[in-house]
Amino acid sequence: MDYDVLVLGGGIIGCAVAYELSKYNLNIALIEKDYDVADDVAMVNADIVYDGIECKDGLMAKLEIMGNKMLEEVTSKFKVPFKRTGSLIIAEDEKSVKTIEDMYLRAKDRGIDNVEIIDNNEVYKLEPNLTIEVKKAIYSKNIGVVSPYDLAIAYAEVAFDNGVNFRLEEEVLDIQKLSKGLKVTTNKNKFTCKVVVNTIPKDMYSIDTDKTYEKEKSEILTYMLLENEYKNYFSKVVFSMKEDEKKYSVPTLTGGIIGASITQNVVDFSTALNSVSRLIGNINTESIKTVYHSNFYRDNIIVDDSEINQGYVKVMGRNYSQVTLAPAIANLICESITSSLKSKNKKNFIDKRRDFYKFRELSIEEKDQIISLDKRYGKIICMCNQITEGEIIDCIRRPLGARTVEGIKRRTGATFGNCQGAYCLSKIVSILARETDKKLTEIIKDSKHSKMLIGRIKEFNEM
Ligand SMILES: Cc1cc2nc3c(=O)[nH]c(=O)nc-3n(C[C@H](O)[C@H](O)[C@H](O)COP(=O)(O)OP(=O)(O)OC[C@H]3O[C@@H](n4cnc5c(N)ncnc54)[C@H](O)[C@@H]3O)c2cc1C
Repeated sequence: MDYDVLVLGGGIIGCAVAYELSKYNLNIALIEKDYDVADDVAMVNADIVYDGIECKDGLMAKLEIMGNKMLEEVTSKFKVPFKRTGSLIIAEDEKSVKTIEDMYLRAKDRGIDNVEIIDNNEVYKLEPNLTIEVKKAIYSKNIGVVSPYDLAIAYAEVAFDNGVNFRLEEEVLDIQKLSKGLKVTTNKNKFTCKVVVNTIPKDMYSIDTDKTYEKEKSEILTYMLLENEYKNYFSKVVFSMKEDEKKYSVPTLTGGIIGASITQNVVDFSTALNSVSRLIGNINTESIKTVYHSNFYRDNIIVDDSEINQGYVKVMGRNYSQVTLAPAIANLICESITSSLKSKNKKNFIDKRRDFYKFRELSIEEKDQIISLDKRYGKIICMCNQITEGEIIDCIRRPLGARTVEGIKRRTGATFGNCQGAYCLSKIVSILARETDKKLTEIIKDSKHSKMLIGRIKEFNEM
């Protein structure tokens, strides 16, 4: 067999599974079609860590509760930005009061602590900038905010350092059962293995002919990232439960807020703005840094390990709380595989991420000390977010280092400032070309055909 376990898909779940399995004496590879892991994780680096209150399905709630608890430990161990902000689920009208009262009783039934129903005065005390009408609200201290991309990268880096082989830029074409083990065919190779963990959400392969799951119709989420005067505007995640206009707000880990509106279909900018404004108050459009639409999935996630004896585990469905669920799902899958393969713990497992500096968060003394060791930390590349050349080089040279401009942006935060890369993008492209020994015209933004520079406009000997 080529591998004991093949993990297919390098999203947050695939990376978390690779990390959990890397604690055992197993020969593991992860196959991902893109240039980087976690390429599909939400672009705004502030996901809600749910607490099991809001979801209707009991099993999903259990996974959220588990994931919520586990994330606190994982994020502190791997220095991933995480904050337990708390949340307010607001009833603006009488119909919604009934909804949140039912939700509260369900939370109590599920044994969820740190949750209470509060009146409008208490809500305004907790969020003084809130202007919408409040009848009642559920206040939960459990909800948090996490950087999903940092989390996925952290899982992947530790898994990589513990021997997982990350096969990037390789697309899975099929999975088949053999008389012993399984065969995975990619666009580059054919592999045999004892176990496949398939986390690829959309594809059905030869092995999946008898598998079905119920997909819910996805809705559309419109996100607006608000900065400047919205810095520290809300301290908590705020959900409005109004049935005909679902909207929420998330405090980002860098101080702004996200205003989000959920609709059945894609809406134009002004409709989304009006909806978000009804939660946040009149929005100064000059403070909107980014707007984007995305599908909002509500499928129940099914971890199907019914064929573990034949070596197949499949994760089915897509859900808005997948980042919260990931640690719990990874734990379940790992238990199922290691007991089936009777795996032993790895003695030399290192549960630590290689150190890195977030330069702008350091004191002057710490900055001086690092610059005296490496002058490149004294050269600011992204002026808006104070990201140094040293940090950019480190993110390229680290385990599973960035190979695309998007990879650098997500790892360091460069170009996410007010100028959106107008000042620093060309410098980042040059550093990436130099560090990876490529031509400038070979550097890509994200995917295969997304070249940053199409070609020269004048034929000089050097660029
Ligand atoms: C707008 C939005 C907001 C969200 N907000 C939250 C939130 O607040 N809280 C929360 O907990 N979660 C949230 N989520 C959920 C979460 O960000 C994503 O759903 C999650 O990242 C999906 O994780 P995944 O690993 O299961 O799937 P994916 O990230 O889709 O991973 C699958 C991977 O498989 C790869 N792949 C696909 N096909 C192949 C192939 N043939 N061969 C090899 N590789 C392949 C893909 O490139 C991808 O990397 C949100 C999602 C969205 C879209």
